Amino acid sequence: MRTFEEYYNDLVKMKPNVYIGDEKVGRDDPRLRGGMNIIKETFERATDPEFEDICTVTSHITGKKINRFCHIHQSEEDLLKKQKMTRVLCHRVGGCIQRCMGIDALNGLSVITYEMDQALGTDYYKRFLKYMEYFQDRDIVASCAQTDAKGDRLKRPHEQEDLDQYLRVVETRDDGIIVRGCKINITNTPYADELVAVPCRFMGPEDKDYAVAFALPADWDGVKLLTRPAWNRKTKTGSPQNQIGDAETFIIFDDVFVPNERIFLNGQSDPRQTPYAGFLALMFAHYHRHSYTGCKPAMSEVLASAAALVAEYNGIEKAAHVREKISHIIGTAELVFAAGESSAKHSEKSPSGTQIPDEILTNAGRRLAGEMIYKEYEIVADLSGGLVATLPYEETFYSEEVGDLAMKYLQRNPRIKPENMEKCFRGIETLIVSELAGLMQVAGLHGGGSPQMETITMMTRYDTEKLKNIAKYLFGIKSKLKRYERPSVTPRKMLEKFGQAMKRKTNC
Ligand SMILES: Cc1cc2nc3c(=O)[nH]c(=O)nc-3n(C[C@H](O)[C@H](O)[C@H](O)COP(=O)(O)OP(=O)(O)OC[C@H]3O[C@@H](n4cnc5c(N)ncnc54)[C@H](O)[C@@H]3O)c2cc1C
Repeated sequence: MRTFEEYYNDLVKMKPNVYIGDEKVGRDDPRLRGGMNIIKETFERATDPEFEDICTVTSHITGKKINRFCHIHQSEEDLLKKQKMTRVLCHRVGGCIQRCMGIDALNGLSVITYEMDQALGTDYYKRFLKYMEYFQDRDIVASCAQTDAKGDRLKRPHEQEDLDQYLRVVETRDDGIIVRGCKINITNTPYADELVAVPCRFMGPEDKDYAVAFALPADWDGVKLLTRPAWNRKTKTGSPQNQIGDAETFIIFDDVFVPNERIFLNGQSDPRQTPYAGFLALMFAHYHRHSYTGCKPAMSEVLASAAALVAEYNGIEKAAHVREKISHIIGTAELVFAAGESSAKHSEKSPSGTQIPDEILTNAGRRLAGEMIYKEYEIVADLSGGLVATLPYEETFYSEEVGDLAMKYLQRNPRIKPENMEKCFRGIETLIVSELAGLMQVAGLHGGGSPQMETITMMTRYDTEKLKNIAKYLFGIKSKLKRYERPSVTPRKMLEKFGQAMKRKTNC
């Protein structure tokens, strides 16, 4: 496993291809440091005895001890530990841990490359395992580049006026492919070693050029990272919250060469692979939404902890309405986590050995989290009062001339020192009013797919015909009701059926 210092030294050696505003910058740009500090937690906790049991695991490929952020889930326990790890690490950074996207994409690829090989006689899984060995040995941090620019939302990739609105293969050569396009809204890329590109939707036969997946170093020739970093204002006391940041990126693929050994799907070279683009899109989203059942409860708990603390500092903690409001945040956190736990318990092993969580539970949990996110921020704002949006700068409270006056009028609960009062309101300002806070809210809603996408997944996969039997029995339309329990729903059976059909069709 790497240390944070080794990771940082590797990053600063990378070719400068990060653009912030009109500048081209190196990875040592201070505006990127906040995001790296978040990733630091994932390295340091892996060697911390208190966290090691959930943050490390034995590789099923090499038998070596690896960071869990590099692991392909092999069991229900793996899924549960991943969920738990995500939750406790997110507490420590007050939000997104930023290292799950890459490995969620690789879990999706583990399932899909295997299935494709079985149905089509390709050899992607072997290639994938070789890549994973490198990934685990080097303890890689990866981005997942799934979301395309997408252009006109109502048109399919090949129908777009500008054919580059979805990432596509413009040329297949003997030694690899040339890709062109742009993936937008991508987290962590300027401080990731590698990026894993996967499709963002199902593709029809005319979209074959868009059915493509691969992995590349993030500073590869022709890759340009148009980045928007966000970070929290530094404070005198240097609290953990003020060390962190985020970066979101438009990844431009400006006619980029991808060598064969790094390609995991290519509908242009073999149109039979095209339908697997959709399954891969679904599978990344599925693993990522399961990761959300770990990080979203943590985010809710961060907000609940701030709400409880400010209620104490405001002297209102015993009021009935305060307890009721905080209970709503806690309730959502527990339900979302429970959905993820339960989806791990109802998980199934795919033929590749990769464990797949239940789809209905994962999506129900993720959607609930997304729907409640603004309500949770509203509760913290409600219990804090307006000060979190109006607090004078920190320096004012420590100024020789007016500091005492500023502290005097900050006094609320007499048991709380004014310095701590300032820290609490400053912390909540950062948590709910800052640029990063705004980003976290939108991430809470759209990350892993908008709530509508979870609804679509659930309703496509839920057997409502069987469900209707309950009403039919109760209303006297049917005389008998068979014992009804929803079976586990994972994409495993759907994929198997599809693979068998493909095998029959292609006769391989
Ligand atoms: C902070 C943040 C971090 C992110 N990180 C990543 C990342 O690391 N990797 C990654 O790949 N993605 C990432 N995303 C992208 C995220 O998955 C997308 O934002 C999300 O899937 C929504 O896509 P979109 O932004 O293109 O919105 P749109 O798809 O444009 O959605 C906008 C609205 O239009 C509706 N809509 C869209 N298409 C249709 C249609 N055909 N018919 C009817 N209604 C439609 C949607 O339901 C929604 O209400 C991130 C997003 C955020 C906000």
